Amino acid sequence: MQSPKPLVVILATGGTIAGTAALATDTTGYRAGALGVDALVAGVPALAGHRLESESVAAIDSKDMDEATWQRLARRVAHHLARPEVAGIVVTHGTDTLEETAYFLHRVLAPAKPVVLTAAMRPASALSADGPANLLDAVGVAAAPGVRGVSVVFAGAVWGAVGLRKVHTLQTSAFAGSDCGPIARLEGGAMRVFRAWPGGEALGLERIAAAPSAWPRVEIVMNHAGADGRIVDDAVIAGTAGIVVAGTGHGTVSARMEAAIARARGEGVRVTRASRCVFGPVLPRGADDADAAGELSAVQARVELQLALLADVR
Ligand code: ASP
Repeated sequence: MQSPKPLVVILATGGTIAGTAALATDTTGYRAGALGVDALVAGVPALAGHRLESESVAAIDSKDMDEATWQRLARRVAHHLARPEVAGIVVTHGTDTLEETAYFLHRVLAPAKPVVLTAAMRPASALSADGPANLLDAVGVAAAPGVRGVSVVFAGAVWGAVGLRKVHTLQTSAFAGSDCGPIARLEGGAMRVFRAWPGGEALGLERIAAAPSAWPRVEIVMNHAGADGRIVDDAVIAGTAGIVVAGTGHGTVSARMEAAIARARGEGVRVTRASRCVFGPVLPRGADDADAAGELSAVQARVELQLALLADVR
């Protein structure tokens, strides 16, 4: 008897991939997350060859992604991953905070099965919609043997979450990795794999179990010409538990900002040094320096710091 095709579960969260506009020529004036997951799947006839289940977790523009939705999403992903018959998961998402959600799921779940996030820059109603091909590619990757961990499939490339960045406001090639290239490329129905699939240790759902309102506040502040550090003092007054500094260059800050950061540390606030540069790591200053963001972008470093601080929230 032939074994059944791999079962892939599609979890929808909204985004432009599910967006609709009044005109097929309109690629910017649309409502994100308007299409239900069944309509999204029905819009890609080539998916008929796959064994699929689908579920809506949210229907939001990912600019509004929040802790409660992340918690719900992580729980649904974990639920389906635990089903022996499920080969992999696809999460449809908006592009705006895709790199944060991908990193969040990577750190919380570090799954052995594939969890593939995908998105689109153009709404489903557009003549030039990129969502259908991205969704088809994502399902193909989630069903492929040998694939594992959290990845992002976009515009023919498969990226790991660490260091991934949205780098363009409009173009359909909107994502790039930091110093490392994609894990794989998808061309003509074939997947060329260049690097190992993501692994690592999961923090687990327990880490994110606290009510979202109790999650530690972590702010991002940017160094810039004229930065006087008052924003850091204000964040401390507002009760922030952590600050990610999107520093200049290799994570540097003005002397006045440095003084404000020292004051914040004195109040017990955890600080991570990231960069406002698009590419490149912020490396540790020495063996004991745990505050450097490494390959993570400032927004991903914020996720990391929030997850670290959650260890102390019961
Ligand atoms: N604002 C949209 C979102 O992130 C943009 C997109 O999906 O491309 O949901």
